Amino acid sequence: MEHVKIYQGNQIGGCVTVISSMINGEIHRIMVDYGSSLPGSDNEKDFDYPWDDEPVDAVFFTHYHGDHVGRLMEIPSHIPLYMGDVARQAMINIQEALGKNPYIPKEEAQLHLEEAAVLNDDKRVKTFNWNGIFYDHVKDIEGFVVEPYSVDHSAYDAYLFLFEVCDPNTKSGKYKVVHTGDFRGHGRRGNVMLTLIKKYIRRFNKRSIDALVIEGTMMSRSRERVISEPQMQLKATKYLMKHKYAFLICSSTNVDSLASFYQAAQDAGHPYGRNMYVYSYYFIKQLKLYTDTAGSFASVYKFDNVYQFDADSTKTYSHPNWDNPKTQQEMMEDYGFIAVIKPEDYHEHYIDAFVEAYKANRIKQMPVLIFSMWNGYLNPKHKAFKKEWFDFVERQKAKGVEIEYDLHTSGHATPKMLASVINAINPQDALYPMHTEKKEEFMNLPIKDEIKQRIRLKS
Ligand SMILES: [Zn+2]
Repeated sequence: MEHVKIYQGNQIGGCVTVISSMINGEIHRIMVDYGSSLPGSDNEKDFDYPWDDEPVDAVFFTHYHGDHVGRLMEIPSHIPLYMGDVARQAMINIQEALGKNPYIPKEEAQLHLEEAAVLNDDKRVKTFNWNGIFYDHVKDIEGFVVEPYSVDHSAYDAYLFLFEVCDPNTKSGKYKVVHTGDFRGHGRRGNVMLTLIKKYIRRFNKRSIDALVIEGTMMSRSRERVISEPQMQLKATKYLMKHKYAFLICSSTNVDSLASFYQAAQDAGHPYGRNMYVYSYYFIKQLKLYTDTAGSFASVYKFDNVYQFDADSTKTYSHPNWDNPKTQQEMMEDYGFIAVIKPEDYHEHYIDAFVEAYKANRIKQMPVLIFSMWNGYLNPKHKAFKKEWFDFVERQKAKGVEIEYDLHTSGHATPKMLASVINAINPQDALYPMHTEKKEEFMNLPIKDEIKQRIRLKS
């Protein structure tokens, strides 16, 4: 029997995988991710999973990006949900912030609060337990043993899963499927991926894997230059040494890049460092979550000097070394900063305040804007084009604000990394590319010929 079924695998985002196990002639299923299609995908309209005809026993989430968790509220309420503990907290923060946002229509805000309530429900949501060496294997779903492993991605607390399912037609009675989720090899923790496969997944070649489900986002973006996260941090440091007033557009959940910019601002503002300013209390909460969790493993994730923009511009602060109290704007003008904003109309005034300060000769440099996201969003020819963002960036340019596009690194594995992972896992029965617009390109990867024969291009 085929143990893996993929829905919407031919696009980036909104892909759903169902893994099945055969026990006493009965099929049991686990779903991996249930997210929304990204704008511009093949399936603008999401498919409807046949919950009644092909019931699933549990849904496992690889990470908290919308194209993986976006349809969580459509999952029937009796089905348990499995995810990482920090991912769960980050998702609760997002939903609560949206639910309390006064600019969001009431009914829509209510839906976000309901989602937060679901995520807070300990009876329904189960998180993975770290035992000090690895995550405990999940054994409470009939017919399955699931091993979660942490992987590096632009979402923090992302997982790869190894499913051991029952199959009466194999010699051992078992069939093993690895699902990578989204991952990369060039993040801060990316280099451990191959060790993890060798040591835990393959158990030094003592364990063979039957099927591999792997993401292939970068197969259609293979001309993009990819730098590692630490390289990006170094570039950012050099850039911030030249530019004292820097605005940043970066996702609130891309912890690794936020850490790179925060650390770069500390080094560039030597010896005191520069503060990071953010646009909402929600953002502060997310950074605090990462400081308390990831920060206890590596100090690079500690965000100590982060402040929210003051709503009251006349509010002042005192310091023993200052003759007079200063407003936040005055502190920012005096000491420089890195400030995270959104490319939306109502954030434009943050930049304007510094363009005016420059014109009034209070500061000697113009502010700059770092666009640290995938540049397809700003490309009118690309189907994921975001006009509001494009217009925002163009307006800043017109004011004479320099835009920096090169301080960004992808959250996804390069084709070279994909090939290394495929060869290391060495699937014996099937290779399922997904989360990709270029499945057929997997045939051109430097992987073993026998594995090429196992690529499932159709499912
Ligand atoms: Zn992702």
